[in-house]
Amino acid sequence: MTDRDELTGWMRALRRDFHRQPEFGFEESRTASVVAETLRDLGWEVTTGVGGTGVVATLARGRSNRAIALRADMDALRITEATGAAWASTRDGLMHACGHDGHTAMLLGAARLLAREGGFDGTVRLIFQPAEEWGQGALAMLADGLMTRFPFQEVYGVHNMPGLPLGHLETRAGAIMSAEDLFEITLTGQGGHASMPHAVREVMVPACALVTALQTIVSRRLDPGQIAVLSVTELLTDGTRNALPGHARILGDARSFSAEVSARVEAEMRRIAEGIATQHGIAAQVDYTREFVPLINDAELADAVMQAAAGVSDQVTTRPTPMTGSEDFARFLDHVPGCFAFIGNGEGSAPLHSPTYDFNDAALLHGAQVHTAIARARLPEGA
Ligand SMILES: [Zn+2]
Ligand SMILES: [Zn+2]
Repeated sequence: MTDRDELTGWMRALRRDFHRQPEFGFEESRTASVVAETLRDLGWEVTTGVGGTGVVATLARGRSNRAIALRADMDALRITEATGAAWASTRDGLMHACGHDGHTAMLLGAARLLAREGGFDGTVRLIFQPAEEWGQGALAMLADGLMTRFPFQEVYGVHNMPGLPLGHLETRAGAIMSAEDLFEITLTGQGGHASMPHAVREVMVPACALVTALQTIVSRRLDPGQIAVLSVTELLTDGTRNALPGHARILGDARSFSAEVSARVEAEMRRIAEGIATQHGIAAQVDYTREFVPLINDAELADAVMQAAAGVSDQVTTRPTPMTGSEDFARFLDHVPGCFAFIGNGEGSAPLHSPTYDFNDAALLHGAQVHTAIARARLPEGA
């Protein structure tokens, strides 16, 4: 057995252990304690409880005062697993359906390679963040003093990608994942008998007009060169078959790749809701929140990641377009530049967030080597 086979087996055992015992965001106490104990055994300096259940580990070598951070996420999803795997979740209604079990195991693999083989001069910090899926974990770690207690100048993250062949890496300069904004529009009028619409201020017709009008924000109010997705996903009223509703709630989700576009979508939504409400003599209230910010890769560092990954990947490609999914990693990039990249989970992989999805153990070594190669490339050379 080669060293690399042994490392792969070690990561696979960790990955399957995390997979069997998934934990929801901010509840990753068992995962965090396994992570902390494993890192201490490898000689890393470990701090637990950063932003709730987050873990930060530090390894300094040589004399350079440069520091870079590598990040993994630890949380699972409220999905009932249907993989039938021998290592399937033992917790009802919870599963690792996004591969964060794999991300955690492969960053531990990188921790082992960096501790045993070095190859850098400076400081490597490992960030194991909680609650990625809700977009809250990175903010919690930042609010807990991540940047002042464990300073670093660059940050890197890697996510598995179903459909991308094993051993392949892809990323791009600039926007790679979208912002996610949530909205809820409340229409208030006065309900009444379905036979007497003239006597009430019902909200069904204005609500339908509003759902249609919201579609003009992307098609008629944004520069065609800008990307946004606006989806109305729910329309709820207090009406019944023979009574017109006096209250309606319209909910949905908007995605974009810049703060300017997100602000424009919100402003247009407020203007249109106000206009339709006035036209129908009812009131409209718009609640608009930003759950995820857009993930914007630094162009120079995306290039550096692709160069570093080339040595340990079968193929490295530039993604032609950004994705409309969102990632909490973007919050770290509000503080330092960095790059987020995807590695192949194999062509046979079920999609992320599906009950039959499973992180591919054959991607573990590639992931660990990508993290290690980035750390070595971004710090001065060392023993
Ligand atoms: Zn996910
Ligand atoms: Zn994920």
